[in-house]
Amino acid sequence: MPRPLSATIHTAALANNLVVARKFAPKSRIWAVIKANAYGHGLARAFPGLRATDGFGLLDLEEAAKLRELDWAGPILLLEGFFCPTDIDVIDHYSLTTAVHCDEQLRMLEMARLSKPINIQLKMNSGMNRLGYTPEKFRAAWARARAVQGVGQITLMTHFSDADGPHGIAHQLEAFERGAEGIAGARSLSNSAAVLWHPDAHFDWVRPGIILYGASPSGKTADIADIGLKPAMTLASEIIAVQTVEAGQSIGYGSTYVAARPTKISVVACGYADGYPRVAPEGTPVIVEGVRTQLVGRVSMDMLTVDLTPCPSVGIGSRVELWGANLPIDDVASSCGTIGYELMCAIAQRVPVRAE
Ligand SMILES: *Cc1c(COP(=O)(O)O)cnc(C)c1O
Repeated sequence: MPRPLSATIHTAALANNLVVARKFAPKSRIWAVIKANAYGHGLARAFPGLRATDGFGLLDLEEAAKLRELDWAGPILLLEGFFCPTDIDVIDHYSLTTAVHCDEQLRMLEMARLSKPINIQLKMNSGMNRLGYTPEKFRAAWARARAVQGVGQITLMTHFSDADGPHGIAHQLEAFERGAEGIAGARSLSNSAAVLWHPDAHFDWVRPGIILYGASPSGKTADIADIGLKPAMTLASEIIAVQTVEAGQSIGYGSTYVAARPTKISVVACGYADGYPRVAPEGTPVIVEGVRTQLVGRVSMDMLTVDLTPCPSVGIGSRVELWGANLPIDDVASSCGTIGYELMCAIAQRVPVRAE
């Protein structure tokens, strides 16, 4: 028997979340972002749920090739562009669309020999200060790109740093419109947060990622309550041992948890080597047989321990949900000081994953 830990990918939830994204941006086409192995869900497992999208956005050429093998004939966008001249051969071979964010990439395109024109998304740095041309340099970059024989359609692209927070996007939207003024071509600006909260930034193509997986761009479960998103991944395991500790006894490495009274504790087959964060503190939510309870003691490599006070009748073999359909991943993440994105991407190789 394998360990009772597994992740389940909910195909219907992915499809549902894509419909929700479309409802929020009804006039835009969608790049479904599936970088990082579809945010940990697995490219091949996520694909059937998301195939009603207009295009897929990702980073790795290998992922792009895999998507073509899955018979996806539609647009694929390389969100970071390419890194060396031979990448352009792969882009050409698989008919990929690529971001272009710097002169080095433009130079490589100028030198390339292509079988057909490549569509590009010329990236503007409108304030994130990661990738792209500043608004002042954007027009010259666009003119240079347009002069390249091998370049087909040019979409104008930028990325927001604060679409989920109080800073907002007004300053970046203003910078974008200033830099792109008078330049023809489709626009692509919005990540998930902007899809949900900034309809003025939707334009021609939107690029949702996290909402397709049913989690919150802000990391706060309350921010996506009642909009119909469904968690696309459930991480579940079982109780493999039960201990009753006396008042004053501790549990696990470092004896970080000391029982105040006689307490029933379960040991669950899931640890940091599975991708469950070791930093998860006491109080992190866990669901045992449908009852919400909490983590106690330190997470170890292969196990973690859970307080059974609210559910005293459970025992070995009882089902434990670490996050998923009944426990928002963002609740677990915020307890750990991070966001759902990080947890889902960090699911370890050794965890068996199946799609349903
Ligand atoms: C990852 C990424 C997205 C999707 O971001 P979410 O917050 O997951 O919606 C969109 N655009 C670019 C350029 C990205 O790198």
